[in-house]
Amino acid sequence: MRIPEAVLDAVAQLNAAGFEAYPVGGCVRDLLSGKQPHDWDLTTSATPDEMLAVFQNDRTVPTGLKHGTLTVIKGDVPLEITTYRVDGNYADGRHPDEVTFTRSLTDDLARRDFTVNAMAWDIKNGVVDPFFGQEDLKKGIIRCVGDADTRFTEDALRILRGLRFASVLGFEIEAKTATAMRRQKERLGLVSAERITEEMTKLLCGKAVDTVLDDYRDILAFFIPEISPTFDLQQQNPHHIHDVFTHTLKAVAAVKAEPELRWAMLLHDIGKAKCFTVDEDGIGHFYGHASISEKMAKDILARFRLSSKQSERILRLIKYHDLPFPNERPMLLKRLHKFGEEICLQLLEMQDADCTAQAPEYRYRLEENQRIRDELQRLCDEQACFSLKDLAVSGDDLLAAGVPAGRTIGKTLERLLTAVMDGRVENTREALLQLVRKEK
Ligand code: ATP
Ligand code: MG
Repeated sequence: MRIPEAVLDAVAQLNAAGFEAYPVGGCVRDLLSGKQPHDWDLTTSATPDEMLAVFQNDRTVPTGLKHGTLTVIKGDVPLEITTYRVDGNYADGRHPDEVTFTRSLTDDLARRDFTVNAMAWDIKNGVVDPFFGQEDLKKGIIRCVGDADTRFTEDALRILRGLRFASVLGFEIEAKTATAMRRQKERLGLVSAERITEEMTKLLCGKAVDTVLDDYRDILAFFIPEISPTFDLQQQNPHHIHDVFTHTLKAVAAVKAEPELRWAMLLHDIGKAKCFTVDEDGIGHFYGHASISEKMAKDILARFRLSSKQSERILRLIKYHDLPFPNERPMLLKRLHKFGEEICLQLLEMQDADCTAQAPEYRYRLEENQRIRDELQRLCDEQACFSLKDLAVSGDDLLAAGVPAGRTIGKTLERLLTAVMDGRVENTREALLQLVRKEK
């Protein structure tokens, strides 16, 4: 196991001053699972003032000194070091009313959420594990430290953190923990949207997102009640073998684990219940569902307080998730013109995942999509013209050719671009100006 020098140095500095100090929480969990931790949290018997004295010659940021946390930056590694702490009463279901510093590591581990997150790493003697986190890690179990109802009543965000760890690690949730999660789910209403969104995004990007959201659909519906009508909604259509919610979850799990794609997939069919019709042959249809889903998703994403930039990108993916990409040069150039390369590729990703979650007879579309991707790549490599800036004439050229100033210039440029993309004219100055003169 590789522990960075920065961590070893910080522990040694605290030890030299007579304090205990250990890597703790997520980094220990990751180390024991053979994964390289992405950040390092340390826990120490030193109080904040004692830490400040020990690290007086290091770069520090007083991240949350009141709660015992000091960030020490060694090289380019930020270490969050927190004094052993016992949390007081949680009157608001979110934050402890007060925190008390303690000199007992076990007390500090006892305030942590799950057994797999409640281990410390003693650099000389190995893991400190009073709540049997190693056993749960081996068995793949998420279990509260202590009484689950109490722990979720203290801080309801833990409910969602539990689902997040189950999704990311592919773990089961222990029975009492699961029952308490369901029993206390309404307390999630006390938690700030920002904290919820952070955990929800991680949950969505987890490898077991489909099983977790299926098993805990009641908790999902607490945040997103609009999704309930999709539960068990049969599609009565030869393209589909799953009800809308099951299809949605399979599509979420099938798309690349990137936040925008996963959020878009979760909400892409949420409007289906609102537009379900059955034709005279008994076939189900959902005309206009992409736009309805987009409208509903707009309200939902606003509640989650995603940044407006991120929301816009997610909403666009939902709105156009089933827009066809016919494999013809002019059509593909127009798609590139409308969306740009990156969003075209994201839409194709969505369509691949959507297809994977439908009836297997239609999987041939995956190969078609690959051909479209290859073609898009070719068009980009050859620097084909699909935007005004690629056009061989500019607004000034049109003015000089006698096109009246103002909006006509813009419209003429757009018309020329369409003509080039359609292959009706070559993208050269002479050919374009000739066309302009002819149209005058
Ligand atoms: P990640 O890999 O996402 O960083 P993590 O377990 O490190 O996972 P953090 O949010 O970084 O999660 O928290 C660090 C540690 O602090 C956790 O491992 C856990 O011991 C403790 N912790 C974090 N949030 C809570 C909470 N809401 N209640 C109790 N303990 C918590
Ligand atoms: Mg962490």
